[in-house]
Amino acid sequence: MKKRICIIGSGTAGLQLAYALKEDFDVTVIHHRSPDQIRSGRIRSTQVHFGSTRTRENRFNMPKWEERSLIESIHITLGQQKLFVGKLKEPALSVDQRFTFSHCMRDLAEKGVPFRLERIDKEKAETLIDEFDLIIDCTGKTGPVLPFAIEKDLSPFQAPRRKCIVGYFVGVKPTQPLGIGVTVLPGLGEMFEIPAITEQGPVTILFITAVPHSELDGFKGITQADEFVRQMTSTAQTFFPDIDKRINAQHFALCDENAFLQTAVTPVVRKPYLMLKNKLVIGCGDSVFLNDPITGQGCNLTSFCAEQLYETLIDHKDATWDEQTGEAYWHRTKPFVKKVTEWTNAMTLPLPEHVVQLLLQGAQNQAKADEIAEWFADPSTAHQAFFPTSATNGRE
Ligand SMILES: Cc1cc2nc3c(=O)[nH]c(=O)nc-3n(C[C@H](O)[C@H](O)[C@H](O)COP(=O)(O)OP(=O)(O)OC[C@H]3O[C@@H](n4cnc5c(N)ncnc54)[C@H](O)[C@@H]3O)c2cc1C
Repeated sequence: MKKRICIIGSGTAGLQLAYALKEDFDVTVIHHRSPDQIRSGRIRSTQVHFGSTRTRENRFNMPKWEERSLIESIHITLGQQKLFVGKLKEPALSVDQRFTFSHCMRDLAEKGVPFRLERIDKEKAETLIDEFDLIIDCTGKTGPVLPFAIEKDLSPFQAPRRKCIVGYFVGVKPTQPLGIGVTVLPGLGEMFEIPAITEQGPVTILFITAVPHSELDGFKGITQADEFVRQMTSTAQTFFPDIDKRINAQHFALCDENAFLQTAVTPVVRKPYLMLKNKLVIGCGDSVFLNDPITGQGCNLTSFCAEQLYETLIDHKDATWDEQTGEAYWHRTKPFVKKVTEWTNAMTLPLPEHVVQLLLQGAQNQAKADEIAEWFADPSTAHQAFFPTSATNGRE
């Protein structure tokens, strides 16, 4: 008989795991929003999936998405000075999670994976432990539902470092070559301009990461779509002239009334396993590895960890799943979690002088510009650049 696994949460982690594990195990997914509610609901992320994540999605036979807005490059601007366009080795893609999640849930259900619509709390999770051989907590940034211990060394902040302000817009002429625009305004925050695909077609995501209480943090209290658009228009005029130039005022609008979001994340990393009622419980994704969205690594780290969890469970397929299995998963994931977290946390602080110098070199040297673009696709290279003498940059 196949071992029974319960995945709580049907986001990036839960869905990739369901695709990966469904052949070898008896998988059930519990989620608290129906596919229709997700599809017609609020945007959730900016979800740039870099090359290695897209490779994993192929490995696990996940659905393919339209490739009309492939992201081939990263455009870097410091203050008002455009520095360079670095080319990514492999294209990235951002597809509206409302569409991908609802589609994958239906697809998995058609492929025989049972879904249960229910909000899980700690008490319910504890009763699930009796029913299944393994519970995987994939409840995202509102989780975890089970008490995974905080890793203090990797969780230095007690409050959000940025306000995240996101809108999916039409009426913005895309950058050429098509890529992610990153504008760093020292002391104020950042703007990420991201080409993306929604169910209705291509959009431009404008994603502000504002230092709380700075001049860029001007969206407080805005709950209505039209007010959000007006504030984005005036923010682009004041702070982002290159984007402002490409906005067509007559057509500039959110792609739908739910295509805007304001949130803030206090980063926290937890040890992703524990024993309850003498059984192993695992965490995967934001529920245990929650970073500020500033480096766009959340889905990519989640996807990496989901693959490592899959490998761990396959390695231990015929053994009793216990603390050793949990430790094997943490051992496989911790070095990368640490690099992504340290780099991401550093990006929320003033850029170190040696990093500013690297960016300036990128303006003079295309090979350096391409290397810097690759920081986002392979964050261990970003960690190496930010912390050149760190012990974690040696062999693991
Ligand atoms: C503004 C913003 C921009 C971002 N941009 C990027 C980016 O460009 N690139 C990138 O890689 N990452 C990005 N991220 C991060 C990325 O979206 C997340 O890291 C990723 O989605 C995490 O996946 P997850 O499965 O852990 O959580 P989620 O995808 O959030 O899924 C969690 C799931 O759990 C369900 N759930 C929650 N609680 C319960 C419960 N009690 N019972 C049952 N179900 C429950 C939810 O409904 C949901 O289905 C961004 C995040 C934000 C906020």
